[in-house]
Amino acid sequence: MVGAYPVTPGQAIGRLLDWYDRHRRPLPWRAPPGRRPDPYHVLLSEVMLQQTTVATVAGRYEGFLARFPSLAALAAAAPADVLHAWQGLGYYRRARALHACAQAVALRFDGALPRSEGALRALPGIGAYTARAILAIAFEQPTVPVDANIARVLARRHGIETPLPGALKELQAQADALASLRRPGDVAQALMDLGATVCRPRLPRCEACPWQSACSAHATGSAERLPRRATRPQRPVRRGLAFLLTRQDGAILFQRRPESGLLGGLHELPGSPWLAGPLSLPASLEHAPVAADWRLAREPVIHGFTHFVLELTLAEARTERPPPGLWCPPHRLHELALPTVMKKLLHRAGLRPGPSNR
Ligand code: SF4
Repeated sequence: MVGAYPVTPGQAIGRLLDWYDRHRRPLPWRAPPGRRPDPYHVLLSEVMLQQTTVATVAGRYEGFLARFPSLAALAAAAPADVLHAWQGLGYYRRARALHACAQAVALRFDGALPRSEGALRALPGIGAYTARAILAIAFEQPTVPVDANIARVLARRHGIETPLPGALKELQAQADALASLRRPGDVAQALMDLGATVCRPRLPRCEACPWQSACSAHATGSAERLPRRATRPQRPVRRGLAFLLTRQDGAILFQRRPESGLLGGLHELPGSPWLAGPLSLPASLEHAPVAADWRLAREPVIHGFTHFVLELTLAEARTERPPPGLWCPPHRLHELALPTVMKKLLHRAGLRPGPSNR
């Protein structure tokens, strides 16, 4: 460690916990100080927080919990209801995996989450990070998970120059050095909070950090440069049309996507295939649900998925001869399980896929 005062892991944990006791974030899924949370609450919040911000999850966590108050209630739910309750959180494969996880726990563990990393990781949707977070926070086991916030704190504190994701092993080794029997759940949550509120990606507040005197990046002025990241190749762009067909009574035509694959089981407007290259209009219009005078939007709706960027151009038409299908009146759009990209398209058409759209 360059230019920083070394401290023992015990001293580092002590400073961190003192800071946490004064500055912990009051998040809806956290138990009050000194109390253990319901393991289901930990599982649910950690799965929701994968790839989604705390602010978004905070706005949806309690609604989901009210609908499925226990792992058993979630296991017994219909898949479409789970997807519907997941709206706004994105990355729907997490919802399907969470549902499958609840069913596996009901079947194999009599409804109680197992307490070993191996058994947790054998469940759908639970990887190394989530398993360690559950073990530390719900079961007070001495382990430290490494998420993006914790990776940043540890990379800076120890001056780790290896780019992510290659640095993960090194970071986990530093995290393991902090694993102790002293309040493991609070240590994990303190690190998450430190990364989110003090050791921020930009403008870290080192003056408020309990580890300032022991931090390599602070001593060398390299905090904002760390952690380093391997450059990601640019995502390819796919393009297509989305058909918004309206019946005489105002109802709109939808369809359900196949259960497996991207956005599986969710509702969508009918569309043309999503293809690389420029949008080919005559070929794309051949996929329209009816022959009609389709009006095309000038600008596409753009949505980023993990592996590609999607540009969908809205095509609108009315029909007096509606084909059979799933017709939904505008005031019931909130009953559909709509992915974010479809909500963006409906917004573009002046519709609000929420309960107030009357
Ligand atoms: Fe992060 Fe600054 Fe604290 Fe180091 S001293 S861990 S860079 S906030």
